[in-house]
Amino acid sequence: MSEIIPERIGRIAPYEPVQGDYPVRLDANESFVGLPQSLRDELAGIVSGFAFNRYPDPLAGEVTALFAAYHGVDPAYLTAGNGSDELIALILGSFLDRGECVLTASPDFSMYRFYASLSGARCAQIQKDESLCVAAEALLSAALREKARLIIFSNPCNPTAQGMPAKEVLWLTDSFDGLVVVDEAYMDFWDQSVLDEAALRPNLIVLRTCSKALGLASLRLGFAAACPPLTQALRKVKSPYNVGGLTQAMAAAVLRHPDVLREAAARVVASCRSLHGALTELAGKYSGIRVYPTRTNFVTVASPYAGRLYDGLLSRGICVRRLDALLRITAGSETENAVLISAFGELLAQGAGGPDTTQGR
Ligand SMILES: *Cc1c(COP(=O)(O)O)cnc(C)c1O
Repeated sequence: MSEIIPERIGRIAPYEPVQGDYPVRLDANESFVGLPQSLRDELAGIVSGFAFNRYPDPLAGEVTALFAAYHGVDPAYLTAGNGSDELIALILGSFLDRGECVLTASPDFSMYRFYASLSGARCAQIQKDESLCVAAEALLSAALREKARLIIFSNPCNPTAQGMPAKEVLWLTDSFDGLVVVDEAYMDFWDQSVLDEAALRPNLIVLRTCSKALGLASLRLGFAAACPPLTQALRKVKSPYNVGGLTQAMAAAVLRHPDVLREAAARVVASCRSLHGALTELAGKYSGIRVYPTRTNFVTVASPYAGRLYDGLLSRGICVRRLDALLRITAGSETENAVLISAFGELLAQGAGGPDTTQGR
């Protein structure tokens, strides 16, 4: 089969989300807030009269205009994608030639490396230290050293929950010759967006998604903001009907209720704050666990016992995300958070992360 399936595909490890039934799912950074019934009824009405036989609007004009209005930007600079994942794949697949270098940081969103390797680009990584932060200067010097043509990172970052101030992002963009792609999937939870700067810069693409704060992960809708030449290029290389008609119609209906969306985002922020507080309190009682500050809808925890904690949570029906020594815990409903905290406390008390005897290992 080696001649039929390119070697670079053989080398790729498939993305394997957790399968199975876990009563508490805090592993995918989804919103725990459901749509209100009145809005669900509105959506049902749209489905019942929907023209399923017609191709959708190739530029998803209506939903793009509503998304732009929600964020206070001009829709002319936005390109809609089938999730921001499609846009990441599109950018890394079309804006790089084979063997050209893309720079990411590590840890960061794993799909950057995935799509870069699919396209045959070379992926260079800069390792973050224990602070889990990366400075713009460090990214720039790594980019120059590696002769990178493209820098991509998430801000605030998944899975670290840390962020780079807008000023630094813009400095990096203005100091770099190549393309800078800033993935703002979690920027609804922080205030350092550069979304409105994208139109003004020749080498900046800002990605946003409806999957996190807006609670529409299942619809698959994301946007890229960029200057006119980049926007034209993106629209040229995307497949013509990339965003499904139902997705466009459903998301447009939801975006017509910005008050509902803002209230949902505020509930997520409050939940995350309380989860962070409770985890910090636990970490104060036991050694071997560090809770990071968060700019997102999840809390990142580092522990040499991450594996034991992860398995222990899973056996109690609680699913979080594990990346080596990090656990990424999505803010859930009050009940979900309480279940998580109680199980976490139990595991720590049983010695999954301390007390003191384990220090220094
Ligand atoms: C969730 C996430 C995305 C994916 O968003 P979709 O629009 O659902 O494809 C992109 N980037 C980061 C950093 C994410 O965490």
